[in-house]
Amino acid sequence: MEEDHKEEHFTVAVRVRPFVARELEGAAQSGWEIPGPTSIKEASGERMFIYDNVFDQNTSTQILYEEICEKVIWKALQGYNGCIFCYGQTGSGKTFTMQGSRKDNPGIVPLAIDTIFTYIQQTPDKSFLLRCSYLEVYNECVNDLLNPNLLNLQIQEDKQSGVKVAGATETVCTSVNQVNSLLYMGETHKQIASTNFNMRSSRSHTIFRMIIESKNREYGNADLNVATLNLIDLAGSEGANVHGTAASIHRTREMSFINKSLLTLSTVIMRLSDKTNNAPIPYRDSKLTRLLQPSLDGESKVVIICNISPSLDAYEESLSTLKFAQRAK
Ligand code: ADP
Ligand code: MG
Repeated sequence: MEEDHKEEHFTVAVRVRPFVARELEGAAQSGWEIPGPTSIKEASGERMFIYDNVFDQNTSTQILYEEICEKVIWKALQGYNGCIFCYGQTGSGKTFTMQGSRKDNPGIVPLAIDTIFTYIQQTPDKSFLLRCSYLEVYNECVNDLLNPNLLNLQIQEDKQSGVKVAGATETVCTSVNQVNSLLYMGETHKQIASTNFNMRSSRSHTIFRMIIESKNREYGNADLNVATLNLIDLAGSEGANVHGTAASIHRTREMSFINKSLLTLSTVIMRLSDKTNNAPIPYRDSKLTRLLQPSLDGESKVVIICNISPSLDAYEESLSTLKFAQRAK
């Protein structure tokens, strides 16, 4: 494992998914070109955007994972908090990127679980304790996806980790299969809880959280490391005018209660990456940012994957996502 001391706090990447059957049938036109591994350009214009990484239609999640996510998992195994987000409009590929589709196209979550258990097996001089939670933020309520009776959980300050979701299920996992069955259970609860699953999944944030404790077998508790790793499938960004000015963000929030957490997240990320502004960062303005604060600030590692559709039809929403991604840098 390599240590890279110059690595950035934030990594911002764009992923363009392939056309789906529906778009191919409708002879959809391409809205974007990818001239190189860090740039994306309008197909019918001159506008170009630069990011840490731009992944094209042919890049598998596995490659994306190895390039930008795996290092966050390694850091978490050494005690540094981390967050990996998928951001983008509904249908842009967030869930495909985060969860994957069955066996042939694993997403970031199963790939991360694999990295963690492989590392644990190969590191006999350390002992590990892995606790998993699966949470949802929906309409500014934090719900436990591992126990459908636990709704609207409170976020509390905690001495050890900074922040705690009171009463949320934390299951100790000792095998890949055990984590997979938790994920499956969470998905099932999410589906049962909603009369309109698609609408709900486009409006809720899903957070798969792993708390990794490790200690050297020789030195014991004197060498205890604890890290929280959050893998987040965000609500659809459509309609949330997150790339506007501060005034328009405020107006949007007042006009309709679209998604306070998404708007606040965008402000928090922008403020964290703007080292020249010393005003307090508004973590407390939304449930999602409060919950994630210890994993966003300080020495934590944050990866933001901005998913877009390749289609010209989705141009406006994709442009909005690219502008969000630009602000995060
Ligand atoms: P979102 O979660 O952002 O609403 P999904 O992940 O559900 O979007 O993706 C929308 C559709 O596009 C799904 O049918 C999904 O399988 C497909 N898709 C998304 N990304 C890819 C990809 N990289 N390769 C192949 N199909 C993809
Ligand atoms: Mg989704």
